[in-house]
Amino acid sequence: MKRILVTGGAGFIGSHLCERLLNDGNEVICLDNFFTGSKEKIVHLLDNPYFELVRHDVTMPYYIEVDEIYNLACPASPVHYQFNAIKTIKTSVMGAINMLGLAKRVKAKILQASTSEVYGDPQIHPQIEDYWGNVNPIGIRSCYDEGKRCAESLFVNYHNQNNVRIKIVRIFNTYGTRMETDDGRVISNFIVQALRGEDLTIFGDGKQTRAFQYVDDLVEGMIRMMATGDDFIGPVNIGNPDEFTMLELAEKIIEITGSKSKIIFQPLPKDDPMQRQPDISLAREKLNDWHPVIKLEDGLKRTIAYFDQLLKETN
Ligand code: NAD
Ligand code: UDP
Repeated sequence: MKRILVTGGAGFIGSHLCERLLNDGNEVICLDNFFTGSKEKIVHLLDNPYFELVRHDVTMPYYIEVDEIYNLACPASPVHYQFNAIKTIKTSVMGAINMLGLAKRVKAKILQASTSEVYGDPQIHPQIEDYWGNVNPIGIRSCYDEGKRCAESLFVNYHNQNNVRIKIVRIFNTYGTRMETDDGRVISNFIVQALRGEDLTIFGDGKQTRAFQYVDDLVEGMIRMMATGDDFIGPVNIGNPDEFTMLELAEKIIEITGSKSKIIFQPLPKDDPMQRQPDISLAREKLNDWHPVIKLEDGLKRTIAYFDQLLKETN
């Protein structure tokens, strides 16, 4: 049995990861400051004697003996990471320093939840890991993008200088159950709007693209990455290569929900990337042929059922 620390464990992805790690027979310590996460997401795990919940902020050092660390703490939705941009940078940078320091002291393996945002508004399509990205360093997304880029640099330098065993995954747009109704990201927004019969808000002309992966596929990829030998540190893209425009996504969600909602167009936020699609050749090669198995339509149906239930309970 391994003892595993998951920072940001009470968030959307973190809660799924904690559950999977417990089911795999590990002891899990979930650390979170509940900025965007909540106890509701992990309440069903609290009775498990191998699960521990810790309220803590990763910008402060934390001491514990663990075998592995998954570092997920950081708001991920533009609305939330822009709410307090300086705090977002502190979380990414000081959080990485604190968790890498911990990994160094206790000789733990540590995985960083990096992001496709390190590629910014990419000029290479689809994105490969060797691409350095096109990020505006002073734009409204920079607190997140540059914070995550700095964290990658910290990880690589702790590895090079201090032999810390690191893993970096670059996560592409992920969705699924346990997202919040006010998360602000596109899939949850569209589903909640469709279920409430409100207009679906497309930003810009809706021709920008994203490639969406269901959370279970991501969790499988992260666990496979952690299990690789020490010589493979990444970064590795984890995402679903099926690419859609936001207009296609809105139409699909209206169709599946059978909603009478209309589509309306609102201004495109500054620096919003126009296209995004992962090249997952490296993940296939290094992670035992890892590839997404859940199609958008199936993942949407599960997520719609979840939000439908949630809205009925809260209304
Ligand atoms: P989320 O906002 O649901 O989860 C983030 C969690 O981190 C929350 O529980 C939040 O309370 C916690 N947190 C934030 N600041 C903290 C701090 N200073 N100290 C302790 N805990 C803190 O978002 P998510 O979608 O679950 O994302 C999880 C991770 O995956 C993030 O690091 C994010 O950057 C990365 N990621 C997510 C996506 C995606 O599409 N969901 C894509 C790329 C990368
Ligand atoms: N978007 C949209 N309507 C919304 C929320 C988002 O059209 O209500 C667009 C947004 O402008 C972006 C895409 O959907 O082009 C994905 O946005 P999200 O915030 O989910 O993720 P990110 O931009 O970080 O990939």
